[in-house]
Amino acid sequence: MQARRGAKAILVHGGCGLVSAERYDRLRAGVRAAAEAGNAILDADGDALDAVVAAVRVLEDDPEFNAGTGAALTREGTVETDASVMDGDSRRVGAVAAVPDLGNAVLLARAVLEAGEHVLLVGPAAWQFAHEVGITPAPPGSLVTPRQRQRLQEAHTVEREREREGGTVGAVARDRRGRLAAATSTGGTMRKRSGRVGDSPIPGAGTWADREIAVSCTGDGEAILRVALARTISAYAATGMTAREATAAALAELRRLTGGTAGVIVLDHSEHAFVTLSATMPVAWIDDTGAGDAI
Ligand code: ASP
Repeated sequence: MQARRGAKAILVHGGCGLVSAERYDRLRAGVRAAAEAGNAILDADGDALDAVVAAVRVLEDDPEFNAGTGAALTREGTVETDASVMDGDSRRVGAVAAVPDLGNAVLLARAVLEAGEHVLLVGPAAWQFAHEVGITPAPPGSLVTPRQRQRLQEAHTVEREREREGGTVGAVARDRRGRLAAATSTGGTMRKRSGRVGDSPIPGAGTWADREIAVSCTGDGEAILRVALARTISAYAATGMTAREATAAALAELRRLTGGTAGVIVLDHSEHAFVTLSATMPVAWIDDTGAGDAI
C-alpha cells in the first residue's frame, strides 16, 4: 500500500474484536461502501475531512457496526454514542461523548469542530448545541438493534463481553492537496455504565491527525486511553519509523503496559496501513492504485 506524495487515499475500519464468520460478508460490504462514500469526495477534489465524515456516517447507519444504529448498549439498555473528527492541516478537532440516542455522532462532532468554540461536548446537555445546528435525536430506542439487545442479555459480566466486542468505526484520508484527516465513532463497550467515555472521542487517544499522519483506533478504550495510542503512534513516526512500524511499536507497548487489545488504521504521505492485535478487524481502502479490503 505505498502511495506517492499528493495522491489521494482513504482507509476505513469497522472495529477490532471477535466476530462470527457468518458476518464477514456483511462487514466487508459495509466497510467497502464506506470507503466508496469517502472516495467519491476525494475523487471530486474534496477535502479529507469531508471524506472521513462521509465514510463514518455510512457505517453509523449500518446496523452491523457498533456506532449509531447498532451501537453497543449501556447496562440500562440505552444508546450513548461517542465520536471525534480531526483535521490534520489546521489541527481543528471536534468531539462528542456519551450523548443519548445520537445516530450520527460524527456529524455533531463535525459541527463542534466547525463552531470552533469548544472541542468536546458531553452527555444529554450536548443536545442543546445539536438543536442549534439542526441535528435532532433519534426516537428513544430506535438505534437499538435485536443483535445488540441479545448481546446485552448474554453479557452477564463486563469481562466476558470484552472478549467479543467490536464494531467501532473509523476512517483516515489524504486528499489530493495532501491534507490528512481522521474520524472515529462508537457506541462504546457493551454493558458500559451510563456516562462512560472511551478513547474514540478523545484526541490523541482514539483519533489523531496532524500534517504528517492520521490515525483511528479501536479496541479496549481504557487501555488505549492509558497509552494515548494515536498520539504515541504519531510521536514514534516522527522519529523516522514508517507509519506501520510506529503503529506496531505503539500497539506492542499497549499490550505490554495494559494487557489490552486494539487495532489501528493509519495513513501518512507515504503509505496507509492497518495493524491489529485482535482476531478480526474489517478494513477497506481505496487509493489511486485501486481498492482492497480485509477482515
Ligand atoms: N474503543 C471503543 C471504546 O472503548 C470500543 C471498540 O473499539 O470496540 O469505546
